[in-house]
Amino acid sequence: MTEILIAADMEGISGVVHWDQVDPKHKEYDRFRKLMTADVNAAVRGAFEGGATAAVVADGHGSGRNILVEDLDPRARLNSGSPSPLGMVQGVDGGLDAAMFVGYHARVGSQNAILDHTWSSSTVAGVWLNGRPLGEIGWNAAVCGHFHLPVILLSGDQTACAEAVELLGAVETVAVKQARGRMAAECLPPQVAQEQIFEAARRAVRRLVAGDAPPPLRFEPPLALQVELVTSDMADRAAILPGVQRLEGKRIELVAGDAVTAYRSFRALVTLARP
Ligand SMILES: [Zn+2]
Repeated sequence: MTEILIAADMEGISGVVHWDQVDPKHKEYDRFRKLMTADVNAAVRGAFEGGATAAVVADGHGSGRNILVEDLDPRARLNSGSPSPLGMVQGVDGGLDAAMFVGYHARVGSQNAILDHTWSSSTVAGVWLNGRPLGEIGWNAAVCGHFHLPVILLSGDQTACAEAVELLGAVETVAVKQARGRMAAECLPPQVAQEQIFEAARRAVRRLVAGDAPPPLRFEPPLALQVELVTSDMADRAAILPGVQRLEGKRIELVAGDAVTAYRSFRALVTLARP
């Protein structure tokens, strides 16, 4: 049995270069949710071709209601909706073997990175876990690591791919676009991007089965989480959460016993801090 979690976000889907394209209130959104579904399907196909026996998909963007379930590969199951207990990697606690991140983006503050942010563009200016800068790739990989799952594939722009390799080691990556700024990129056509995602997913599962996957991302407890908010009133609100220490005007810290607790605390404090 080789069961794969496919965690999907939207900013790293080929063709996406602007917030309008990932915003359900905008008319361009319908095009890009179809492309997101197709990128996920390419990963599902590749995973099964490589030897996977089951695939669980987590829809991690915004409300978690982006992937078109009617168009999803029928071999997969879909975690949809928000909030769910484990957020962008909902399903990771189900005894799976490895995770793939499709459509991911670089952490807040990255250069040449389409729509770089960490959870909330308007709220979070930076995150560090035990001194290491962490974006959504790192957060979700740490939760996967808590359950002993390695991340074996990531698709997104070239900067997201580089962030994944730096953090996770020899993960399969697919750069579906070359970002030339925060809102400009040279994009592969979806057909080409999906072919590359399919091939990388097949390779990734074959490597997993052969014992050649990168190690899971693990953080040694205690986990010191520092968050820099965008404004000091956001830090005022985040500091209401029990256990939070105020370090400076916009910076707070808390200590957690494990990665899942740190992740839950982070989600809670961002919800409190949000304007
Ligand atoms: Zn997103």
